[in-house]
Amino acid sequence: MPELPEVETVLQAIKPHLLGKRFTAIAIHIRKLRTPLVLAGHPELLHSTIVHLERRAKYIVLKLANGSGLLIHLGMTGTWRLEPADSHRQKHDHVEFFLSSGLVLRYHDPRRFGQIVVLTQQENPLLHPLLRHLGPEPLHDDFNRKWLADRCRGKKKPIKTLLMDNITVVGVGNIYASESLFRAGINPLLAAGKVTGKRIARLVRAIKDVLQEAIDAGGTTVKDYASLDGKEGYFNRQLMVYGKTGQKCRQCKRGIIRQTYQSGRSTFYCPVCQR
Ligand SMILES: [Zn+2]
Repeated sequence: MPELPEVETVLQAIKPHLLGKRFTAIAIHIRKLRTPLVLAGHPELLHSTIVHLERRAKYIVLKLANGSGLLIHLGMTGTWRLEPADSHRQKHDHVEFFLSSGLVLRYHDPRRFGQIVVLTQQENPLLHPLLRHLGPEPLHDDFNRKWLADRCRGKKKPIKTLLMDNITVVGVGNIYASESLFRAGINPLLAAGKVTGKRIARLVRAIKDVLQEAIDAGGTTVKDYASLDGKEGYFNRQLMVYGKTGQKCRQCKRGIIRQTYQSGRSTFYCPVCQR
């Protein structure tokens, strides 16, 4: 599943090809993704210049000069391909956005959990019902020691579960929650209320560093989106605990990485390094 660094990587890759261009046609080959696709009844999406693209959590926000726009989520398996308009559509290419540059942006999603929502002209996209309840961006200053300390205080739920809650911070999915807790030396099963003081500061730092390094590396699973700019991610090789069950910890050289389940998701940790 694309996590925050992958979405950021995709955004950076498509941005130069979209800004200043217009959609000349939109071809829809499916009736619904996660929610019904209503792109067809929106002529305002055509022939207006794309003026703004940003990421909020794992959503891509696209704004047009006329004020309308799109909110896009890649779901579990969504990917984009930018290709010449006369190239062939592939299986699972559900939506095609033809651009004034002669390229086509194709949305590919075998499992169809993605979302493409039309933004109306009056709407501030950041206040859209899908976005407005979300917590701070992990790389912004409002995600800080004080904020996380307030969120953790008195909580009995495990720290990893709290980190993966969108209200605490957005975009810290399973891989990055496990890796950040390892880097901060905190056991993922520990009650959030027990994480205090310097350990909170260390965890905030670890989350920011792990995500930024993954973005710099081009996202962990970016090979799925490699058609956009040919760059391959290498963060996979830097993972310390995620997917390393039974292996000796590379940091302490003593602990054996354990795997457990929290809220239905796999958690990986070193019982020696993480207390
Ligand atoms: Zn260790």
